[in-house]
Amino acid sequence: MAARGKRMPVSVARLDPLAVDRTGVTLGVPGELPWAAERRRSGLDPYDLIWVMPAKGAVALSELELIERIASQVRTRPGVVVGIGDDAAVLEGDPAMVATQDLLVEDVHFRRSTAGFADLGHKALAVSLSDLAAMGAKAVAALVGLGLPAGDALDDADIGQLYSGMEALAARFGVSVAGGDLTAAPALVLSVTALGRLPTGCAAVRRDGARPGDVLCTTGVIGGAGVGLSALDDPAAIDGVPESMVDAAILRHRRPEPRLTEGELLRDGGATAMMDISDGLGIDALRLARASGVTIEIDLGALPLHPSVEPITASLGRDPALAALAGGEDYELLVCLPKEEVSVLATGLTAGLTAIGGVVEGRPDVRLTRGGDAVRTAELGYLHDV
Ligand SMILES: [Mg+2]
Repeated sequence: MAARGKRMPVSVARLDPLAVDRTGVTLGVPGELPWAAERRRSGLDPYDLIWVMPAKGAVALSELELIERIASQVRTRPGVVVGIGDDAAVLEGDPAMVATQDLLVEDVHFRRSTAGFADLGHKALAVSLSDLAAMGAKAVAALVGLGLPAGDALDDADIGQLYSGMEALAARFGVSVAGGDLTAAPALVLSVTALGRLPTGCAAVRRDGARPGDVLCTTGVIGGAGVGLSALDDPAAIDGVPESMVDAAILRHRRPEPRLTEGELLRDGGATAMMDISDGLGIDALRLARASGVTIEIDLGALPLHPSVEPITASLGRDPALAALAGGEDYELLVCLPKEEVSVLATGLTAGLTAIGGVVEGRPDVRLTRGGDAVRTAELGYLHDV
């Protein structure tokens, strides 16, 4: 439920004034700080969207560790079926209600130079709806919190654009923007709480239900948003790539499509575990493996790559499958299914469904293969070598 998005190198100094809380910890996004490399070498998680550094200490906590710390401090009381640790919370009841929140913060998750206000409105809602999709829920409403920088170049038209992008997406899925809050803020902040519902008699699909023997699948195509961000970051590096390919990738980055219809079909089709791919297939698969207590195998050769991934990674000199694995912001659904259900579901999903691996018994981990051979994953750091 934490904010998810492509990590950007942001200096701690940039964030310090925003992020020193009353307990004296400093929130930062030091994706490129020495701690990140150190933790990767140690085989620790690089969940470096949010790190907490004790004010006088040198040990950085990852987002996962911070979530665990918070989860140990608060109690899940009667009335809540699924609490902290999944894509969304589920409230007891029949039908059950599902709720999730995502934050988009300027210069952490987006830059105004590379995304228009209509894009931001779309994306802020889309990423929250994607978490409802990951539970197999139907979206109903959204509450929108907006922090606006004072004395900035923002005007009425910008806010109008923001809500037009959001409303266009809301209308397509029958979602109502039903409330929210406005405040002045040191940076542009968008917080969307999405509320959804499961059909009567239906349980949510959680992350922790994967079983050995399940087939691992993804909806749609992956890697497009990641290479789209690379294209925005360094246009010169992709000089020879056809413009249509670059535009398609950037569109994936700016306008993710929540897979709500697919989520419901997969729920009804017997999905044992599901989550959305927000931070990258590799790290999200590891989260699912940990929640379920299983080993997940991914065949890099089977990944359904967005058509822009090959030309852009060729230009950047990167491996296309590894780029897609690490890219993030795909907002496709990563789902575990009983073997016999896969082919039927694959024909019924508009976005498409591709088997990319499987679930086996073993310690919670992700193993990568290509053409049957194990792939060493040192270049990704956060996945253990196989
Ligand atoms: Mg999610």
